Amino acid sequence: MPRPFKRRFVNGEPGATSFKPAGVPGRELATVELRFDELEAIRLADLEGLYQEEAAKQMGISRATFGRVLDGAHRKVADALLQGKMLVFKGGNVAAPQTRMFTCMDCGRRFSIPFGVKRPEICVGCQSHRIQREVVQEVPLGACRGRGRRRWRGGRECTT
Ligand SMILES: [Zn+2]
Repeated sequence: MPRPFKRRFVNGEPGATSFKPAGVPGRELATVELRFDELEAIRLADLEGLYQEEAAKQMGISRATFGRVLDGAHRKVADALLQGKMLVFKGGNVAAPQTRMFTCMDCGRRFSIPFGVKRPEICVGCQSHRIQREVVQEVPLGACRGRGRRRWRGGRECTT
């Protein structure tokens, strides 16, 4: 029995749904299906240059599994490039990226921003800079000057 397929976290969608040799209609081409998790493995390892350990962590899979996914992805890309096939991006058991929630302290508007995307500078409703992340996960060392009260420093909320 095949092992259950683990959810793999993928950051955003690719810029296209397929990729093919120029000048040949897609219907005349053999296709290779590249799953989204394979595409993400290529993005993390080859484009961002992450070590497999780190890339695996980002996708929520083991390093060994990441290595297999990346190997498979490389074979498919090589097949398409060298045999003139069309790459079609589809499938794979992937999850939408997790998001961070922010609240505007002035108008109360709430924002949802995916991880890996820069935090909003200003509120889109009232232009206020007082945007607060709802769940505080990290405060840079030495950045907080509050004493028992919430203070802002370096763009992050400090609760100490
Ligand atoms: Zn606002």
